[in-house]
Amino acid sequence: MVSAGMKTTAVLGLDALPYWYIGKLREWGQTPHLNKLLENAGALECIPPITPSSWPSIMTGVNPGKHGVFSFHHVDRASRQRRLVSSLDLEHPRVHEILSFNGIENIMVNPIPDYPIIPVKKSVIISNMFFTPRPSSHPREYYERYFRGVEGLGEGNYKEFIVKYVGAIEDMLVEDNGRHGFVWLTLNFPDHEFHKNPRLLDNPAVSAEVWRGIDRLAKYLLDNFDNVFLVSDHGFRFFNFRVSINDILYNHGFVVLAKKDEEVALHDALAQQKGIRTRRVRVPAKLYRLVARLGLEPQARRVFRFVARLYSRLTGGELVPRTGMPIDYHRSKAYMPESGMYGVYIFDDDVGRDEVYRILREYKGLRIWKTEELFSGPFTGRGPDIVVVGDHERGYSLGPARVVGTIYVKTKYHTHDLWGVFGARTSDGFLEESIRGGLFRNTIVAPLVLCSTGVPVSRHSDDLELIEKMCPGRVETAVYTGKFQVVKSIFKARQKITSRKRMVNS
Ligand SMILES: [Zn+2]
Repeated sequence: MVSAGMKTTAVLGLDALPYWYIGKLREWGQTPHLNKLLENAGALECIPPITPSSWPSIMTGVNPGKHGVFSFHHVDRASRQRRLVSSLDLEHPRVHEILSFNGIENIMVNPIPDYPIIPVKKSVIISNMFFTPRPSSHPREYYERYFRGVEGLGEGNYKEFIVKYVGAIEDMLVEDNGRHGFVWLTLNFPDHEFHKNPRLLDNPAVSAEVWRGIDRLAKYLLDNFDNVFLVSDHGFRFFNFRVSINDILYNHGFVVLAKKDEEVALHDALAQQKGIRTRRVRVPAKLYRLVARLGLEPQARRVFRFVARLYSRLTGGELVPRTGMPIDYHRSKAYMPESGMYGVYIFDDDVGRDEVYRILREYKGLRIWKTEELFSGPFTGRGPDIVVVGDHERGYSLGPARVVGTIYVKTKYHTHDLWGVFGARTSDGFLEESIRGGLFRNTIVAPLVLCSTGVPVSRHSDDLELIEKMCPGRVETAVYTGKFQVVKSIFKARQKITSRKRMVNS
C-alpha cells in the first residue's frame, strides 16, 4: 500500500526512442499524451548505447563499472570466452529492488537484464518481451492472468502483438486499481520496429496503431499517477559509414585471423536461447569487399532480409549472415570481441594500452575513451580497456566484430545512436524545469525517480550532487548493494536445489 505523503509514480520505458524523434511525433500530432511527457524532455546520453547495459544504468542509477553489465556478453579475460549476461551478473539493485527493500509495493514489467527473474518481496515482476527464453512473472499468476493469451514475437505480426501487449498492461493496471503505487513498464518498441522496418524512422504513421496504443497507456498513467516519467535507453538513426575496429587492429598486427569461427554471434545466441534453430550463411570475404567498394551494401542487405524472411516462413528457422573473416580469439592480442561491445579488450600483457589508444585516435569517425574516463567502480575491469563508439553526429557507426577487409564501408545503415530521452510530468512541476532541454547521463534516471517518489536513493548513485540540486526537498541516501548480494545468493542457492531436484526426478 502507498503510505501517506508518498507520491505515486509511473515510468514508461520505450526502447530506442531517439531524442531527435520528439520533433517527428510533435509534427505528426497523433500522440498528444506522449507529447505532454516529451514537452519536458531532455536528452539522455547512453554509453554504451546498447540495451542490456544502458537499461541497467537507467534502472540502477550507477554506471557499468558499478553494476557490472557492459553488453550482451560477459567476457572472461582469462579464458577469453564470451557468454550471454544474465540478471545474476548485475551487482547493484534496480529501482524495483530498491523499493522492495523499503517495503514499497511495485510492479516492474521487463526489468533488464530480464532473465532469470530475481524474486523480491512486494514486487510484481513480469518478464516476457526482451531476451528471456522463458516468459514468466513473479508471482506466476500475473503472467497467466494477463499475458498468457498474448502470443510471442511472431514475425510479421509484431504490431498486433505490441498493441495486445499494451492492452494487457492496461487491464492489469485497471484491475490493480492503484494498490501498487509504483509502476515501471519497459517496452521493446520502437527499437524492434526500427530494426525491422526503418521507414518508421522517417514517419511515425508507419506504426500508427502502435503509437496510439502507447499514447492511450500514457494517458492512463498521467490520469492515475502523481509523477510520470518517460525514458529510453539510446536513440536510433541512419548512418552513412560503418567503421571496422577489428580491421584497424588487424592492419596494425593485433588481430590474427582464425580458421574456425568461434564468434558467439549475438543473433545466433539469443535465438538459440529461445529454442529457435539458426543457420549461418557465410558471405565470402572477397564478395563482401567488392559489394562494399561498389557501395552496394544497403541493397545487398535488403536482398538478404528478403531471403531470410522466406527461409523463416518455409522452415521456421533463422538465417544469420556472417560477413568477412573470424578472428582468432586466443592468438589475437587486442580486439573488439563481439558486435555491440563498443570497445577494445587488450588481452596480451605486452600490448600497451596507450599504443592502441594512439592508433585508434588516428582514424576518423570514432570517439575514443580510456575506460576510467567514463566508468568507475569495482567492476570496471569487466568492460573494454578502451571504449569506442562511432562519431554519430558525423554519420559513423561501428561495423561487426570481424575482419571484413576494409576499414570504412559506405552504406546506409540504421542502428542505435547515443541519445535517448528523459521526460517528466510531476505533481508539483518542479523537476520538469531542470530536465527540459538538458543533457544528462543515463544514470540520472533512477535516483530522480526515487527521490521524487520519496524513497532514499542509493549512496552509490553516480550523480548524487546533481540529484541534490534537482530534487525538491532533502535527498536521503541508503546503501543497498549488500542486501542485493544477499538476495542474489539466496536465489542462486534455491536455483541449485531446484535443478538438483529436477535431476533426481528425471
Ligand atoms: Zn535498447
